[in-house]
Amino acid sequence: MSVLETRDLRTYYSLVNSVVYAVDGVSFDIEAGETFGLAGESGCGKTTVAKSIMKILSDNGYIAGGKILIDGEDIVPLSEEDIKKVRWRKVSMIFQYAMNAFNPVLKVGDQIAEILFEKEGYSKDEAYDRVRELFSMVELEPSRIYDYPHEFSRGMRQRAIIAQALALNPRLLIADEPVTALDVVTQGKIIKLLKKLQRELNLAILFITHDLSVIAEVSDRVGIMYAGNLVEVGDVVRVFKEPLHPYTAKLIGAFPSIIGEKKRLEFIPGAPPDLSSPPPGCKFHPRCPYAKDICRKEKPVLREVKKDHLSACHFSGELDL
Ligand code: SF4
Repeated sequence: MSVLETRDLRTYYSLVNSVVYAVDGVSFDIEAGETFGLAGESGCGKTTVAKSIMKILSDNGYIAGGKILIDGEDIVPLSEEDIKKVRWRKVSMIFQYAMNAFNPVLKVGDQIAEILFEKEGYSKDEAYDRVRELFSMVELEPSRIYDYPHEFSRGMRQRAIIAQALALNPRLLIADEPVTALDVVTQGKIIKLLKKLQRELNLAILFITHDLSVIAEVSDRVGIMYAGNLVEVGDVVRVFKEPLHPYTAKLIGAFPSIIGEKKRLEFIPGAPPDLSSPPPGCKFHPRCPYAKDICRKEKPVLREVKKDHLSACHFSGELDL
């Protein structure tokens, strides 16, 4: 059984006079020990997928339909009281801005220990032993649990955030742009750490970033999102070497070399659509050089074009991308 399955997930935001269709029918799954990368331009719905799984949407956000199965249990209908038993224990999330994740006037170790007191009823000694163990797991010196957040470097704070996220042994870790604010050397170290922890704990990881070179490095499979939909899903090497969707091909072309030799960067004309009134048919049609009449009328479905390689384009497999 997959650790995570989303089925036709739809998450919208209510505005005063309109509805933003931020995630509009997204289905994917992640196995234990697997990293699924979610990529796409800003505003395509990646973070909304993550917040839906954590059920931490803003007040005007709501899940309008679909399922989110964690270890086979659909968490969409759960009350806030019941979802608290799932958060941290089954699914945890780490964010880009580690500095904001800790209260600056409290010691880092105290803040992690608090989760263990509150949620699991640990005694003080048990909680601090566990925090020291977590610090060792993320390769921080255990004596540093008594430091304040400002005494940590950015990389150390990100390690502490990972330690906090793993405190209650979740099966699924959502990492939303976890290395974006870090320098390249620290990025590499954090990615290496996440891979090590994944092997040791058999974690399923949902890794979200706009940075395709990071996605290529960390993911087993990748999903490319555009305007609230997955437009391509498959093995990361195959998707990057032989993309089936014009948007994926353009996105790869617009990024400095991921696989293969360096070449002139492409430019994706236009901008992503307004998600409160997306274009009919294929949402990419106003920007797609291959668009035909059918693209302006019929929405393409995500379908298996090659074995385990899915694409949502009427002409996938026929185009020379
Ligand atoms: Fe382009 Fe049409 Fe394919 Fe959409 S369905 S990506 S517009 S060719």
